[in-house]
Amino acid sequence: MPGQPARPALADADLAAMLDVAVAEAVAGAAEGGVPIGAALFDSAGVLLGSGHNRRVQDGDPSMHAETAAFRNAGRRPGYADTVMVTTLSPCWYCSGLVRQFGIGAVVIGEASTFVGGHDWLAEHGVSITVLADPRCVELMTVFIARRPDIWYEDIGVPAP
Ligand SMILES: [Zn+2]
Repeated sequence: MPGQPARPALADADLAAMLDVAVAEAVAGAAEGGVPIGAALFDSAGVLLGSGHNRRVQDGDPSMHAETAAFRNAGRRPGYADTVMVTTLSPCWYCSGLVRQFGIGAVVIGEASTFVGGHDWLAEHGVSITVLADPRCVELMTVFIARRPDIWYEDIGVPAP
């Protein structure tokens, strides 16, 4: 499409290594008693720019989602079209908005079976979306939702069923 920046091209081997960083963040979050979602921002060469995990519980900050934490930890950058946001879970609307606002070129998602956020919307707006079915990511969320449904439904902003 004219005017659109080139999207990062990713090999499968790169994806696995990149997802490992996000999963390690999610595991760290789980160990802290938090929502086990991790994310990492990479440049198109696969260089890690920043990573982080959901810190709602740890910081008492409902705006500190995994993608937000990774984005903040990456620091300033003139543009994001060549960057890849790797996250263990389908990004919520808030984080999907972050991806769109800053023009992040690609999003790699560990799983979208326990929660579906805005990744189809991002794809409609030209963001390269890769949805994996990583069993570690599914396990982290399944266990957490079963153990702490109160925190989970608070996190996604809907009443618990
Ligand atoms: Zn989010």
